[in-house]
Amino acid sequence: MRLIMLGPPGAGKGTQAQRLAASRGLVQLSTGDMLRAAVAAGTPTGREAKAIMDAGRLVPDEIVVGIISERLDQPDVRNGFILDGFPRTLPQADALETLLAAKRVPLDVVILLEVDDDVLVQRVAGRYTCASCGEGYHDTLKVPAREGVCDRCGATTFKRRPDDNADTMRQRLQAYYKETSPLIGYYYAKRKLRIVDGMAEIDEVSRQIEAVVAGLPELQGAAE
Ligand code: ADP
Ligand code: ADP
Ligand code: ZN
Repeated sequence: MRLIMLGPPGAGKGTQAQRLAASRGLVQLSTGDMLRAAVAAGTPTGREAKAIMDAGRLVPDEIVVGIISERLDQPDVRNGFILDGFPRTLPQADALETLLAAKRVPLDVVILLEVDDDVLVQRVAGRYTCASCGEGYHDTLKVPAREGVCDRCGATTFKRRPDDNADTMRQRLQAYYKETSPLIGYYYAKRKLRIVDGMAEIDEVSRQIEAVVAGLPELQGAAE
C-alpha cells in the first residue's frame, strides 16, 4: 500500500503516519525528518536547507524530489510506504507521479487531515519528541504516562524543533495555503482524496484512517 498524509503543519501527519506504519508494516517517509537529519549531519543539502527551514519556507523542489527519489530506490519501501510531508507543491506531486510510474506502482490514497488554524498553532507550540526513538508528544495534549520518561522506549531526553515557534508557524501556514493546499484539488481530480477530521482525539483519528484504508479496493481484493 502506498499513501500520502496531507495536511497543514501540526495536523497530526507524523503522529498518524507512525501509527499506521506500525499497524500495517509500512515505511514512514518524512521529508522533514530526512532534511533535519541532513542538517544535523552537516551535508551540503543540510547546509542549504537549514536557513530555509528555520524561516518556515519550503526547501526547493529539486532538493526534496532528489531525496525522495533516492529513498524510493531502497528495498525496504517495496512492501508499501506512507509519505509524510511530501509532496508539498504541484511540481513535487508531478515528480512523484513520474517516479511511481517508472516503478510501475500506483498510489492508493491521499488522506487529508483537516484541523482549524488556532488548534494547529497550539499543537505546534507544545510539540516535542523523544530524542532516542522519535515518539511524538505534546505539553498538554499528549503527555507521557510517567513524566519525563518516553512511553515507547523509556528514554529521558526529549527535543524541540527550532521552527516550532509562533513566528515561524505563521510563515509555514502561509506556505501551506499558498503552495500545498492546491494538492487537495489535484488529488481530488484524480479520485485519490479522502478527508479525515483531524480535530478529533488521536485514537479516533487513527480509527477513521484505518477505516479509509480498510475500504481501499486493493485490500478488499486481498481479503477475498
Ligand atoms: P504534523 O506531522 O502534521 O506536523 P504531528 O503529528 O507532529 O503533526 O502533531 C503535532 C502535535 O500535536 C504533536 O505534539 C502531537 O502530539 C499533537 N497531536 C497530533 N494529533 C493530535 C490530535 N488528534 N489531538 C491532539 N493532539 C494531537
Ligand atoms: P510539519 O509537519 O510541522 O509541517 P515537517 O517536518 O514536515 O513539518 O517539515 C519541516 C520543514 O522542512 C518545512 O517547514 C520545510 O521547510 C521543510 N520541508 C519538509 N518537507 C518538505 C517538502 N516536501 N518540500 C519543501 N520543504 C519541505
Ligand atoms: Zn522514546
